[in-house]
Amino acid sequence: VTTLIDDPIARVLGELHERLRHDYRGEVSASIPTLANADHKLFGLAVCSPDGFVSEAGDVDVEFSVQSISKAFTYALALSDRGREAVHEHVGAEPSGEAFSAISLEEETGRPDNPMINAGALVTCALVGGEDAREKFARIRSLMEAAAGRTLGFDETVYEEEQAASDRNRALAHFMRSAGSLTDEVDPTMEVYLRQCSVLVTTRDLAIMGATLARGGINPVTGDRVFSGEVARHVLTVMATCGMYDYSGEWLLTVGTPAKSGVSGGLITASPGQFGMGLFSPKLDARGNSVRGVAASQDLAERFQLHALTLP
Ligand code: GLN
Repeated sequence: VTTLIDDPIARVLGELHERLRHDYRGEVSASIPTLANADHKLFGLAVCSPDGFVSEAGDVDVEFSVQSISKAFTYALALSDRGREAVHEHVGAEPSGEAFSAISLEEETGRPDNPMINAGALVTCALVGGEDAREKFARIRSLMEAAAGRTLGFDETVYEEEQAASDRNRALAHFMRSAGSLTDEVDPTMEVYLRQCSVLVTTRDLAIMGATLARGGINPVTGDRVFSGEVARHVLTVMATCGMYDYSGEWLLTVGTPAKSGVSGGLITASPGQFGMGLFSPKLDARGNSVRGVAASQDLAERFQLHALTLP
């Protein structure tokens, strides 16, 4: 990873960090003990350019569980393995307008609305190729590692806590199995999904992963192709409409980039052909999005004209 010595983007990130670090709105997630005990003062911002330069400010090296941000990459893998049509027989591409843990299944087909909410992510996990849960998870982890350009850790404690707190997700999985949209058994599906949530990333990783999406599947730091340009476009599209849960519409209005948030306070954005951004701050708003992450993104999108629908 290359950083510039006199870097104007890093200067902006530093100013933003200084201004927003006094914003204490929101609450850390109470879903599992590790997240409930997270240090709410942590705040990291990183931007990765299309040629792989990383600018950063704050706690960019602190590791946290990737949580729902993994959903974008599992979706990329399912699309690569099965193709868009086969995936869309089982999971839709419509914003649900509901919370990430909602039971939002289409009435006629039993499909969950989209792959960025829990129900849809469980279905996507089942669609990933692999003999068993171990192999499927190994493939998802490898894909995230290729997008980040390094080996990623795994938090065994988070995984155990997620398993102990998985009643609702498990219920969703059973429900979708009876509706026919979940093609695999419940237990292995839960294992894949909760393991992917427990992979450890840093804010810098998220910026590079975002830039990989923005570059149409090529990691700009390593130069490796991680998935096809077509897959990147599908994933970015669904991130744009569904990535911020029931804030996705307002996000598109005020920031305007494809994005995905997670319950640990991570946030990834990808401006097609331009930057990837990683943001991390554990306190969440009522929809489950990082308060400082959203505020910083709004500022940066305006400053650098990142809105995907910016007119010439
Ligand atoms: N592991 C969390 C869950 O399934 C992830 C949700 C999220 O990040 N929004 O509830």
